[in-house]
Amino acid sequence: LENFDVLKIRNDFPELSRTVHDRPLIYLDNAASTLKCRPVIDALNAHYSNEAANIHRGVHYLSEMGTIKYEETRKSIQHLINARNDYEVIFTKGTTESLNLVASSYGRKFLKKGDQILLSTLEHHSNIVPWQMIAEEVGAEVIEIPVNDLGEIDLTAYKILLNEKVAIVATNHISNSLGTINPIAEMIKLAHDVGAIYVVDAAQSISHEKIDVQNLDCDFLAFSSHKMFGPTGVGVLYGKEDLLNEMPPYQGGGDMIDVVSFEKTTYNTLPHKFEAGTPHIAGVIALKAAIDYINEIGLDTIKAWEHELLEYATEQLSKIDGLKIIGTSKEKTSVISFTMEGAHPHDIGTLLDRQGIAVRTGHHCTQPLMKRFNIPATTRASFSVYNTKEEVDALVAAIIKTKEFL
Ligand code: PMP
Repeated sequence: LENFDVLKIRNDFPELSRTVHDRPLIYLDNAASTLKCRPVIDALNAHYSNEAANIHRGVHYLSEMGTIKYEETRKSIQHLINARNDYEVIFTKGTTESLNLVASSYGRKFLKKGDQILLSTLEHHSNIVPWQMIAEEVGAEVIEIPVNDLGEIDLTAYKILLNEKVAIVATNHISNSLGTINPIAEMIKLAHDVGAIYVVDAAQSISHEKIDVQNLDCDFLAFSSHKMFGPTGVGVLYGKEDLLNEMPPYQGGGDMIDVVSFEKTTYNTLPHKFEAGTPHIAGVIALKAAIDYINEIGLDTIKAWEHELLEYATEQLSKIDGLKIIGTSKEKTSVISFTMEGAHPHDIGTLLDRQGIAVRTGHHCTQPLMKRFNIPATTRASFSVYNTKEEVDALVAAIIKTKEFL
């Protein structure tokens, strides 16, 4: 990638200059959570040092200023995902809460006995369990859309499964375990053809792909701030206005009401109806700094660099004897999951950690997917825009050393 200065970007992430076990940190666990850039840290610090106050209810200076900044992040997300209105952007505490909100609120209002909910084998537990919970409550059925040997959703099977009983299809845009980029635009159209709504789990795609909710025509979309250089404890649920308006509140409390009386309580308008209680004000404000940072580098540049890292790492890792990459779709983001003959992922992860390399090992909250590939776990290296080819080389060398040791 020409004119791309990765060292300049690395300077924006203070944690990259630390050591772990006396080795320079090589952080390859970006699919779990990204590191935080300086502007995000500064925004958090500025809020807590100088601007802390509650929002939305106060007439005093700090409360009003906080409210303005909080709402600016909402606008910034509206532009990032091209939502029609800013009030279609609901703040939650993460993808998990966003998905639970939809399953619980939409599900309770609209799901009937005998309805079907389609989920793919690739789903994170947070896009499985909330649907199982509501399905059990209302008598609906959860059905699995299978994946092929490359780790791609089987579109032929999906088309066969679609019928007028399907009320909801919920899948991720990008798989956290394998990195597969799913053809959601096509899948959304097919779901709408049978009258189903489509829920997109964009936890893994929000910092890697341009997302246009109007163009995709998805009904809901969920993501987390901490996977896009922002603070933990903040997430987003986008929903189409007419659906959100029809849905009952998810939680009751302050801010989400219009008038409360013991006879009858009425609810606030969007987005406040779904934002009960004092939110993570500092986190939401700092999320705007993360979005500005992403926009400054540009998602096209981010994607191109990560793709270069993916191709290089795939090529280098494939040379290691006994190493098998799980998830070999051509449509992949910068995630490499692998197994190695004679070595348990947990041992690999521990020995890599001793060498300063952070990877993730385990089932990655996708147990059905592990079952599909007949493995208990993988080792997963996931790359972000601040990673380098030298770090890939260090990973490969460390795996070879680990392999000899085990
Ligand atoms: N879905 C996917 C695809 C994810 O990768 C994750 C995070 N690992 C989640 C959902 C859950 O996100 P959170 O833990 O931030 O709520």
